[in-house]
Amino acid sequence: MRRKIVAGNWKMNLSWEEAKTLLLGINRFANIHKRDCKVIICPPFVYLDRANDIFIGHASVGAQNISEYDNGAYTGEISGEILNSIGVHYTIVGHSERRQYFGETNEQVGRKVDKAIERNIKAIICCGETLEDRNAGRQKHVVKEQLTAALRNVNKEAMERQIIAYEPVWAVGTGQTASPAQAQEMHAFIRNEVLEPIFGAEVADNSSIIYGGSVKPGNAEDLFVQPDIDGALVGGASLSLEDFNSIIHAAQRL
Ligand code: PEP
Repeated sequence: MRRKIVAGNWKMNLSWEEAKTLLLGINRFANIHKRDCKVIICPPFVYLDRANDIFIGHASVGAQNISEYDNGAYTGEISGEILNSIGVHYTIVGHSERRQYFGETNEQVGRKVDKAIERNIKAIICCGETLEDRNAGRQKHVVKEQLTAALRNVNKEAMERQIIAYEPVWAVGTGQTASPAQAQEMHAFIRNEVLEPIFGAEVADNSSIIYGGSVKPGNAEDLFVQPDIDGALVGGASLSLEDFNSIIHAAQRL
């Protein structure tokens, strides 16, 4: 059975003092629920090292991005090699905000996934359609195209260690969540019609597909009971200890 995953994406938020308080609280809670739910926190880059020192036990830290390059003259970029050197084992790749504001393409996302895998860093690979795509009935086509590009060099063995995050762009940071049925439909599509043809039924069945888009304490459980939803990537609600812990609790109850 797939273990639930609850990941927090802090984006560009929190002072170090605020971050420390939140990390200490999450660490305590995650260790209580370690068997039932994997907790990953993706803070701003500059907090990764100190966050790693605070997470003694079962929660993990992850980066919000990874460079498509190994090293060299790429000002402002952070490579897999650098993440490795401070013990970071997860990274978000292809978040919709990176695609939207920084012009990341499907091909770039694919190269970033390759770099993460080369460094043994688990990628949380984001995909999801815009409202315009959904209104035009193109959501499955768009998601398939994004994932096919992201996974083009990934083999079966590596795939079992990656995490897919389905995040409809119209639900990210908007307060508008996909209904459990809408999310389940897309997760089943990803598992059965994207992953299975590439990697086979067993790998598809073992792959973790988490949902992101305004997940809150009030809607988490209804999403988590869906058979193909293996947890959540949480933005806004991951900045509140009470809200985030209650989302972990919802995952742990199932
Ligand atoms: C995200 O940043 O990945 C996200 C899902 O944000 P929010 O939960 O705020 O919609």
